[in-house]
Amino acid sequence: RVVVGTKVDQNHVNWVTAYNMLTGIRFTVSRTNAKVDRDLTDADFDARHKFSFDITGNELTPSAKYDFKFKDYAPWVFRHLRSNFRLDPADYLMSLTSKYILSELGSPGKSGSFFYFSRDYKYIIKTIHHAEHKFLRKILRDYYNHVKANPNTLLSQFYGLHRVKIPYGRKIHFVVMNNLFPPHRDIHRTFDLKGSTIGREFREEDLEKNPRATLKDLNWLNRNLHLEFGPTKKRAFIEQMKRDVTLLRKLKIMDYSLLVGIHDLERGNEENLRDKTLKVFQPGGEAAEEPLPTPLMRTPSKLENARKAKELRQMIKNQKPIPMDQSTSKMPDEMEDDGRGGLYFYSDDGGFRATHEDDRPGEVIYYLGIIDCLTHYGFIKRAEHFFKGFSNPESQISAIPPERYGDRFVRFISAITKSREKAEQEKNGEGID
Ligand code: ATP
Ligand code: CA
Ligand code: CA
Repeated sequence: RVVVGTKVDQNHVNWVTAYNMLTGIRFTVSRTNAKVDRDLTDADFDARHKFSFDITGNELTPSAKYDFKFKDYAPWVFRHLRSNFRLDPADYLMSLTSKYILSELGSPGKSGSFFYFSRDYKYIIKTIHHAEHKFLRKILRDYYNHVKANPNTLLSQFYGLHRVKIPYGRKIHFVVMNNLFPPHRDIHRTFDLKGSTIGREFREEDLEKNPRATLKDLNWLNRNLHLEFGPTKKRAFIEQMKRDVTLLRKLKIMDYSLLVGIHDLERGNEENLRDKTLKVFQPGGEAAEEPLPTPLMRTPSKLENARKAKELRQMIKNQKPIPMDQSTSKMPDEMEDDGRGGLYFYSDDGGFRATHEDDRPGEVIYYLGIIDCLTHYGFIKRAEHFFKGFSNPESQISAIPPERYGDRFVRFISAITKSREKAEQEKNGEGID
């Protein structure tokens, strides 16, 4: 399959940052998970712990390659969140382990965030603005309660919130979250849908040089596409989306979107096996092509991985520090379907398969979720105020109040969710419901 992103190795400009992020995550996650599980307390939601890493190490932190400071936020809350999302602690650590761990999804989009994939493509690290970081901490309890009450939520699954800082460098805040797209299946089309039509079009002419670009609402409508779910799946999907949006409205969040990746089962993965280029994606931007780099390391076998996983579990149990350079993570093509622990919308090979009006399975698998949900209305308003002087039309239209944003979103997504048969019927003017 196509390798997405640029490999972050020692020669990469962000190598030190990436290395420090992973070292910090590994240390803090194994530290928390080594303890006996317990119920959350109020204090857990505000908790933060600061660690200093250096080359020599001390009684608290192991030695690291570089000097840096790492801050871990609400570790117990995230431990419970990970367990709610059915992540296996050893598996999580394995994915975020090893030397050539990450690939970077292009450089900053509009927001300036960086995206990194874990080596096995299961997890995404997204750098976030300080305002988003503060906001996530503020809403953490609401988010947690929502996830508890809605195990099948479509919202981004947050697994950790951290901060890293190198000497004389700036503070970098980041979250670890689920990659909605599967490591082992090719995504043939990607859409980022907000329910707005103004400015929501990717120039079709540009698809030629960037065939994997993320398309938007107008491209969806122009192609007369639908989220093809028969009655059973449609009901479940819309019900969950409404519950999720109710929370977002309440928390005055906006600017989020439904990310939809479509895997066409008939096309399968075949064409990618022939694809020998590395696609470098920039969120919302152009894509470049680079020749595939030569593999930097041997890919561990399944057996090796199983053995390493067992070792890691043992280490967590024994509270042993985890060695830094273990390259245990699996490559996408040797992974079986992980099914995300049976979570409803991720249960068809990691996604949600289309169905017909009679609930028969359909021809595509959708990989979908509500992303970019840390933008508070107040933040947008301030940005808009700032931009007003430049009369930026985009900022004006996006700044509709969160209630209206949410309603428009639900209306749009509901309207495009219908089986192939239903869509056909309506086109012919028969029984519209
Ligand atoms: P902006 O604020 O300008 O919209 P952003 O930097 O906040 O951008 P997002 O909107 O969160 O970025 O994501 C940008 C793109 O990155 C998405 O359109 C999608 O292609 C990819 N992406 C983001 N989150 C995920 C995810 N959880 N799984 C897979 N892909 C993702
Ligand atoms: Ca976005
Ligand atoms: Ca954003």
